[in-house]
Amino acid sequence: MIDHSSNSSVAIIGGGLAGLAAGCALADAGFEVTLFERRPYVGGRASSYEHPGTGEVVDNCQHVLLGCCTNLTHFYEHIGVSDKIQWFDELTFIEPGGRASTLSPSMLPAPLHSMPAFFGTSSLSLGDKLGISRALTAMMRRLPEDGDGDFLQWLRRHGQTERAIERFWKVVLVSALNEDLDRISVRYAVQVFRESFLKSAKAGKMGVPRIPLSELYNSAAEFIRSHGGEVLLRASVTGINSGPDGVKITSNPGEQQFDFAILAVPFQTAASLLPAGPIAEPLKNNLGQFEASPITGIHLWFDREITSLPHAVLLDRTIQWMFQKNKFHSNGNDSQGSYLELVVSASKSLVEKSRQEIIDLALAELAEFFPSAKEAKLLKAAVIKEVYATYSVMPGLDRFRPQARTQWPGLFLAGDWTATGWPATMEGAVRSGYLAAEALTRSIGNPQQFLIPDLKAQGLMKLFG
Ligand SMILES: Cc1cc2nc3c(=O)[nH]c(=O)nc-3n(C[C@H](O)[C@H](O)[C@H](O)COP(=O)(O)OP(=O)(O)OC[C@H]3O[C@@H](n4cnc5c(N)ncnc54)[C@H](O)[C@@H]3O)c2cc1C
Repeated sequence: MIDHSSNSSVAIIGGGLAGLAAGCALADAGFEVTLFERRPYVGGRASSYEHPGTGEVVDNCQHVLLGCCTNLTHFYEHIGVSDKIQWFDELTFIEPGGRASTLSPSMLPAPLHSMPAFFGTSSLSLGDKLGISRALTAMMRRLPEDGDGDFLQWLRRHGQTERAIERFWKVVLVSALNEDLDRISVRYAVQVFRESFLKSAKAGKMGVPRIPLSELYNSAAEFIRSHGGEVLLRASVTGINSGPDGVKITSNPGEQQFDFAILAVPFQTAASLLPAGPIAEPLKNNLGQFEASPITGIHLWFDREITSLPHAVLLDRTIQWMFQKNKFHSNGNDSQGSYLELVVSASKSLVEKSRQEIIDLALAELAEFFPSAKEAKLLKAAVIKEVYATYSVMPGLDRFRPQARTQWPGLFLAGDWTATGWPATMEGAVRSGYLAAEALTRSIGNPQQFLIPDLKAQGLMKLFG
């Protein structure tokens, strides 16, 4: 039997945010952590690498966080990289043709803080805005359970105009949840608006990393090492066996025995790594219910600046967000040129298109928003399609998302797809890592708390929690 009087050993399989968060929490609590990551760098789906075609270090995709991401911001503080996040409280929405509207908070109490700017936007009519306000009021009351209806049906039931759907609801939710509105659970759509728009001005701030993602998350690997743990890169786990003496991990470094293991790989990989036997079948069946949705990032290096904005939401076209990375990224082009990344979430229409077709489309659309793009010379470009970027928070999916604790003694699950109550985000992944670490400490009768509470509602939202 395992002797927990000495420091217990924990294998963590997967060096994405879930695995790193669990590893940092447990290493800090005195566990001997060994993290296995099959790639040569950590960060998982939020990582950066040298792009072979351009020679530039690029993020697999621009990642943003919001003020309501309490566990992610705690994780950044814990590993000492909070100063590498740049925060913005203003969002610019641009229509084709270049007309821009800005959304920023006022001094009014939540949930009214954004209302003055919202009613000043030019992309929506007064009727659209009144309809949106009514729907937001309906969301204030409570967070619904994950039921069967999809969010597009909900919007239609709540009398939303086509323009409000296209230029407001879709813009926010397709980026936040990486799915089309008719494939999004009402619970998660409402959660996005309650947590980020309604609860407080702080909750809605947008943060962007100022350094490449793998550099950011390498600080977590360093944290684990500095607390006596190991982070093994290019270490692919091929088998997990759980028994009364702990968990045996088979990987390319060989076989090792641990007291505990946390499986923190994506849902597609998790099923094949579960210990063999009938006990795994219900979990495998549940994992079979998940579906993935793509995101495409289009990286463009120009010989000149085409806008002074650091970022903008682009309306009514395929390209949805523009990030001018040299404005906040220390890795960006600091000469007279500019480095833009355009992001297309739920990019099903781009998956089959060639690199050149996507670049041509992006350049044509970009010029509709920023006419000076027509004169700029494109120096180089990269297209990164993440076909399995995130799982879709489809109506009813919650009943298939597993808890951290499993039927196998000593084996726990983490990953953005586990039962965190959050969608597939960096915040969801960190929450899952903290929850798995908590479940592990509970299992040995020494419960510890790692999960950080949600931001408190402010102003009038205090009435609704
Ligand atoms: C293109 C894109 C854009 C996104 N944008 C945002 C955003 O703006 N904001 C946001 O909050 N979220 C965003 N996300 C979602 C976010 O990146 C993920 O939800 C989060 O990073 C998932 O973390 P994870 O640890 O659960 O999984 P992963 O990051 O997938 O980590 C799993 C790790 O396990 C490793 N692994 C797999 N198999 C093995 C094995 N056999 N042995 C060892 N290691 C193994 C993998 O290499 C990987 O590193 C985006 C995702 C993508 C792909």
